[in-house]
Amino acid sequence: MVVSAIHGDERIVGPLGHELARSVLPDDVTLWIVPAANPDGWQAGTRNNANNVDLNRNFPWAWRASTGGPAPLSEPEARALIEFVPSVRPDLIVWLHQPARYVGPIGLTPVEYAQAWSTQVAEPVRTGVTQHGGSETWCALVAGIPTILIEVGGTEITPGLLEAHRRGFEACVRELRPR
Ligand SMILES: [Zn+2]
Repeated sequence: MVVSAIHGDERIVGPLGHELARSVLPDDVTLWIVPAANPDGWQAGTRNNANNVDLNRNFPWAWRASTGGPAPLSEPEARALIEFVPSVRPDLIVWLHQPARYVGPIGLTPVEYAQAWSTQVAEPVRTGVTQHGGSETWCALVAGIPTILIEVGGTEITPGLLEAHRRGFEACVRELRPR
């Protein structure tokens, strides 16, 4: 599963989600894509949703009252994701962000998954990433789903960048092992 644009001002990741939908994957792989996890924010070009909450601080892992809303899961978008993700129970979930330039395997996610992606995009693997209220952190550390956080480098969309990440995703999927 790939989840794009939980931050609506990260304008690369929308097109990148569509690019990953074009991936060439093994026949036994089913790909789910959430193209805009923050649809109001994507429409408005804002990081936060229409309630001015950072959805990626609204999940129930080490939640704190900063930009993460009045309570964990106060936002309908976060509640929808936290029901949908376990219903699919993906072998891997990928969260797309920019612009910090790294490939982050969260929690116990095999580092080989991230290395396969990293090699294709020439961006480093960063382990040990956690985020208070973070969707990716909840997926890995609470739901126990292998999770990769992609922080695309820079802010400029180029065909080469999108293609490199698609190749990274394809390489990553080839590394997947049954759970
Ligand atoms: Zn982000």
